[in-house]
Amino acid sequence: MHDVVIVGAGPVGLFLACELGLAGCSVLVLEREPAPSSPWRAEPLGMRGLSAASVEAFHRRGMLPALLAASGAEAGPGPDADADEPAPPRAVGHFAGMALDPAQVDLVALPFRLPGPTGEGVLTSLAAVEAVLSERARRLGAEIRRGVTVSAVGQDDERVVAWAGAQAYPARWLVGCDGGRSAVRRLAGFEFTGSAPLFTGYVMLADVAGPDPLTPGFNLTPTGMYLKLPAEGHIGMMDFDGGAFDRTRQPTRGHLQAVLRRVSGTDVTLDAVPSVSTFTDRAMQTTAYRLGRVLLAGDAAHIHSPLGGQGLNLGLGDAMNLGWKLAATVHEHAPDGLLDTYTRERRPVGAAVLDWSRAQVAAMRPDAHGRALQGVLRDLLTTRDGTTLAFARISGASIRYDLGGAHPLTGRSAPDLRLKDGVRLGELLRDGRGLALDLSADGRLRHTAAVRQDRVRYAAGPVTDDLGLGGVLVRPDGVVAWAGDRDVDPRPFEQAADRWFGH
Ligand SMILES: Cc1cc2nc3c(=O)[nH]c(=O)nc-3n(C[C@H](O)[C@H](O)[C@H](O)COP(=O)(O)OP(=O)(O)OC[C@H]3O[C@@H](n4cnc5c(N)ncnc54)[C@H](O)[C@@H]3O)c2cc1C
Repeated sequence: MHDVVIVGAGPVGLFLACELGLAGCSVLVLEREPAPSSPWRAEPLGMRGLSAASVEAFHRRGMLPALLAASGAEAGPGPDADADEPAPPRAVGHFAGMALDPAQVDLVALPFRLPGPTGEGVLTSLAAVEAVLSERARRLGAEIRRGVTVSAVGQDDERVVAWAGAQAYPARWLVGCDGGRSAVRRLAGFEFTGSAPLFTGYVMLADVAGPDPLTPGFNLTPTGMYLKLPAEGHIGMMDFDGGAFDRTRQPTRGHLQAVLRRVSGTDVTLDAVPSVSTFTDRAMQTTAYRLGRVLLAGDAAHIHSPLGGQGLNLGLGDAMNLGWKLAATVHEHAPDGLLDTYTRERRPVGAAVLDWSRAQVAAMRPDAHGRALQGVLRDLLTTRDGTTLAFARISGASIRYDLGGAHPLTGRSAPDLRLKDGVRLGELLRDGRGLALDLSADGRLRHTAAVRQDRVRYAAGPVTDDLGLGGVLVRPDGVVAWAGDRDVDPRPFEQAADRWFGH
């Protein structure tokens, strides 16, 4: 029997497999698709934007160079990796199709954003992400079994069993990472609630006869939206039909041409459409991320429109948050209630992304109300505060878990502090342990940290970035569990270490 069975070898399932493998759990990944390759995972259709928060996760596990190489990114993601001062991002993205100006980001409002290799997002593909993760998952001992479709799930107090036909796969824990139409979610009885769609979306590779009337980039029109991407014939469309199109059938060339003509206000002709996929802005989330021995992560736990490209980032955040907690539970050294903090921390982050995507859809509605909202938002989003807020939301910098504690860093992703010898905080998290970074002049956290060496690594300062810190306790997922100012008191540090790592 495995410690954990993961259903789904998409990016989230694979990232979780890496985390559990790193922590010494036995892991079996069951994947329906017989082969990893598919045109929907490779570029251009599989193109995905990773946020700075996701890039940080790869950095913290030493996978960033492999990710950049697999993604064809020539240099590191930020222009300022070795600079002393952070630089504005090179790109911010958009809100409801309205481009955001990087020069308007107020760096003073983001004091924990240090210069480093994780300052910016990376444009990549699902294929690249999955290739890097599956190679690492295998190296860490996870078994990935392809061509297995999970069709039943059963659990009792001792174990959980995934069934594929007559074949049983027993485990102590099961995690459904099987995407937006998750079978695990349905089979295990998770409640899934949310809002109905306003539009049907299409993404396609088409042979367009005379594509010139189509304007490159994001186009909000009086009748909808279309997106002309750089690769020839790569087009996205939003048709505000209330989600009426029957997505169980493949749209015909004629239907797609009619939609494109309507939303673009042109008379373009589609000669052929070799690849097309549909989606909606249905925004739904499970009310809990755990039922007994079954957990959910990624699209299995939440779905929303791909506007603003957040789903993959949200799912990778789930996996990073869950991995170490589930591993500690498997190894029976998790403090009481640790696994319950997974839903408590990640569900609000998911709910915020659902609302961010709903707000974009509302602002793109091709009617008088939508246009009025666009006007107001355009004014707000061209201000310094508006751009900075959007940047913090899109990059993941705004994520803060409610962990209690007064210090403004607590609950946030740890800044990538540099020690005097050049080592960065992110590099100290590579082995999957937590980190006690002692920045006091007399090493006063050394003793309390030493008690849990197998779970918490100890490192002493000083650091080159002056944030006025005397010490930080960082969880394995890179989140600050506790931070103290210069005259650091070891007692609250000790309490935080007990709370997150046990005695
Ligand atoms: C057009 C488009 C553009 C997007 N752009 C972005 C972007 O730029 N940035 C971003 O963050 N997100 C983006 N997203 C969203 C992102 O692609 C998804 O959120 C992400 O792929 C979810 O990953 P996952 O591992 O949870 O699920 P999936 O990638 O769906 O993987 C689930 C896996 O489970 C397998 N599976 C399913 N059922 C079973 C079963 N019963 N048994 C065994 N295996 C099963 C599937 O075969 C699949 O391999 C975009 C989405 C779309 C549609």
